Amino acid sequence: MADIRFEHVSKVYHGDIEAVRDFSLHISDQEFLVIVGPSGSGKSTVLRMAAGLEEITKGNLYLDGKLINNIPPKDRDLAMVFQHYALYPHMTVYGNMAFSLKLQKLPKSEIDKRVRWAADVLGLKGKLDRKPRELSGGERQRVALGRAIVRHPQAFLFDEPLSNLDAMLRVQMRNEIKKLHQQLKTTSIYVTHDQVEAMTLGTRLVVMKEGEIQQVGTPQEVYENPANQFVGEFIGSPAMNFFVGRLENGFFQIGDLFFKLPEQKASFLKARGYDRQTVLLGIRPEHIITVSEGMTDSATVTANIQLVEFMGAETILSFHVGGQPCLAKVPSDKGWKAGEQAAFRFQLEKSCFFDAKTKWRIDKAGS
Ligand code: ADP
Repeated sequence: MADIRFEHVSKVYHGDIEAVRDFSLHISDQEFLVIVGPSGSGKSTVLRMAAGLEEITKGNLYLDGKLINNIPPKDRDLAMVFQHYALYPHMTVYGNMAFSLKLQKLPKSEIDKRVRWAADVLGLKGKLDRKPRELSGGERQRVALGRAIVRHPQAFLFDEPLSNLDAMLRVQMRNEIKKLHQQLKTTSIYVTHDQVEAMTLGTRLVVMKEGEIQQVGTPQEVYENPANQFVGEFIGSPAMNFFVGRLENGFFQIGDLFFKLPEQKASFLKARGYDRQTVLLGIRPEHIITVSEGMTDSATVTANIQLVEFMGAETILSFHVGGQPCLAKVPSDKGWKAGEQAAFRFQLEKSCFFDAKTKWRIDKAGS
């Protein structure tokens, strides 16, 4: 069990590459924390610094309150699970899982107990005598997990462990990792560039961009209340819609359209000095609903549907609002067709506003 704390941690690689900047985060004992962000945002570097595989340039890292900046990886008792889980091809499943325990010179009986326990937990009981080549991709990944859990580490550090698997297997392994955590409750840090994986696995997410934390929160908080435009775009599929427009006396103007804002939102933005200013409105595609054409009001707009993407229960409709592109996620039952006209209502009480220049949130206390 472990409690991991990063305090103002930065990493500068050779050649002045600042991969991580001022990273501060407290991961509580038993937590499953996911770090998510596009490729190159510094996620792996954070993980590798936790593992001790990269030196920390600035700042401090604590494990259970103890400073570990200069503790070598082997003395940290943290188990890393990689995307490339090189198993020893000449060894059996049993041998692969027992390997690190043998190096630690644990008694044979203890090794046997741990390997059989891991095989039981991971559903590999009947496969202990097989060689890696005789296993499916999912089974191999499970052996890689097994190698980590037999060590009874203080924490797991997962570096995109599912990226090599096909879509079905990823979902299955995602569930297995989740169940494993519910059972073992070992503190875990999980790195991924896949926002769906992040949302489904994490009890808390850290969204990163260009080496910096953008937002920390539960999947729901991050989805419903993105801290800035980047988070709104990166989390959720399709991405949040964004409109550049002007705030004017409680209305948001896009092109020649005027949307009346909910009273509270309008007065909050006005109090912060955003009246008569250009701002960015963000609204999720599912918060734009279709209504019958007669039911128009000051949050409704009529538009020509340009593209229809059938997704099963839901359909994504593309159209333009005030000359700016817009997507709505609506129930599929109406059988929408491109070229049709429809009335769309913006559920503005669920919208978010961002500063047009900084792109950070402005309509939320504390933002
Ligand atoms: P992510 O895991 O989000 O893809 P990384 O932590 O791997 O991001 O990389 C962050 C940045 O640091 C990138 O610009 C990457 O090119 C750079 N980087 C990573 N490892 C090294 C290294 N060993 N030497 C120099 N630059 C590196």
